[in-house]
Amino acid sequence: MQLEQAFQDPQLCRSLLDRLNRALDGRSMRFMEVCGTHTVAIFQSGLRSLLPDTVAHLSGPGCPVCVTHDAEVAAFLDLAGRDNVIIATFGDLLRVPGPGGRSLKHAQAQGARVEIVYSPLDALTLAANNPGDIVVFLGIGFETTAPTVAATLLTARQRKLENFCVLSLHKLVPPALRTLLDDSQCAVEAFLLPGHVSTILGLEPYGFLAKDYHVPGVVGGFQPADILLALCMMAEQIRDNAPAVVNAYPRAVGDAGNPRARALLEQFFMPADALWRGIGSIPQSGLTLRPEYEDMNAMVRLDLTLPDVPPLPGCRCGDVLKGRMAPPDCPLFGKKCTPATPVGPCMVSTEGSCAAYFKYSER
Ligand code: SF4
Repeated sequence: MQLEQAFQDPQLCRSLLDRLNRALDGRSMRFMEVCGTHTVAIFQSGLRSLLPDTVAHLSGPGCPVCVTHDAEVAAFLDLAGRDNVIIATFGDLLRVPGPGGRSLKHAQAQGARVEIVYSPLDALTLAANNPGDIVVFLGIGFETTAPTVAATLLTARQRKLENFCVLSLHKLVPPALRTLLDDSQCAVEAFLLPGHVSTILGLEPYGFLAKDYHVPGVVGGFQPADILLALCMMAEQIRDNAPAVVNAYPRAVGDAGNPRARALLEQFFMPADALWRGIGSIPQSGLTLRPEYEDMNAMVRLDLTLPDVPPLPGCRCGDVLKGRMAPPDCPLFGKKCTPATPVGPCMVSTEGSCAAYFKYSER
């Protein structure tokens, strides 16, 4: 805790702000914070009001709830309606609206068996206590959370729990960044890369940012000084026309990431095409269970398909997640869509950029 507090030091932050201003020297910079935790940290710390006016921060696709596609919500609502199925999920998925605005919370109110768990391992306890039912854990999240799900699958095998499976809706960050950059309308000049995901990935999977797109990428931590240091490094790379992928969070992220976690991930999962809300299908940007674990793959075991569903009417989450629109520019923001009455998932999750703007910015 004391170590983290050192990265909140006002003097340190002031000197980093000076360094940032020197690097910018009056020029503008549009950076994207990929991760929802960064979006919230920038608001919570008050950094947004301290940054020079020429620095625009765009929120990216790094909030797992926000990028869960309407068709994926439809699939888990389908499961929730089945007999002998218990859904185990993290609480923040409960209110994510799917087709017709329906969510797991509605399904739960109508009698579906939906249990909130705090760890995927809790779902194994549910399975052990309900041998006549199939417990389906809803696996959402990025490279950070997927290894814990892999560890849970391993434990289920070791305990011979045959009534446990996973609906793997995990997403991978690097393919999404490539898709953003392939869009001719993309205005991102540099990426603040996610600290948590990078603890697993390390730096190498982001190398294409600088190599193929000439865009800097800096892995940053979540304290104000971490974020400012990352911004300084981005601005200096832009100034010097020397884009690179570098690590500004070495106290948590090793350049090689976590090979053990990646090995566990690769034991159970393999890349697959995945649907991202507002973005669509991105090749090889998701994780599915390997064929040898089909009995624990809810898609196969419960014969699930992802239906074609129309997007939520009026919701501009897709434009927000691609950095094309700031949440307050959505016509529904703060009117029809609020944290109490969310129209889209970006207003549901505490890490969603619409929810962050609603909570912290002046309206
Ligand atoms: Fe969607 Fe609401 Fe955000 Fe608009 S304000 S983009 S409706 S979540």
